[in-house]
Amino acid sequence: MEPHEWQSSPGVLGQNQIIIDVVHVYGSWNAGMVWVYAHLVECSTPSADCTGPWCQELLVDADRLLDAAAR
Ligand SMILES: [Zn+2]
Repeated sequence: MEPHEWQSSPGVLGQNQIIIDVVHVYGSWNAGMVWVYAHLVECSTPSADCTGPWCQELLVDADRLLDAAAR
């Protein structure tokens, strides 16, 4: 996800490029954007201290999400 493709809360654009592992998509806030529960890619490394079902709640570009899922 590029910075302009995700938001930490509505209207707050991401500040950096992130790679996320989407756990659950739960609907839209407005056209073109959807909320997801996800882990960061770093969470899957053995040293990561992340035991929750998810750790990120983000608003992401729906088209971008579909593109990523199709790959
Ligand atoms: Zn995590």
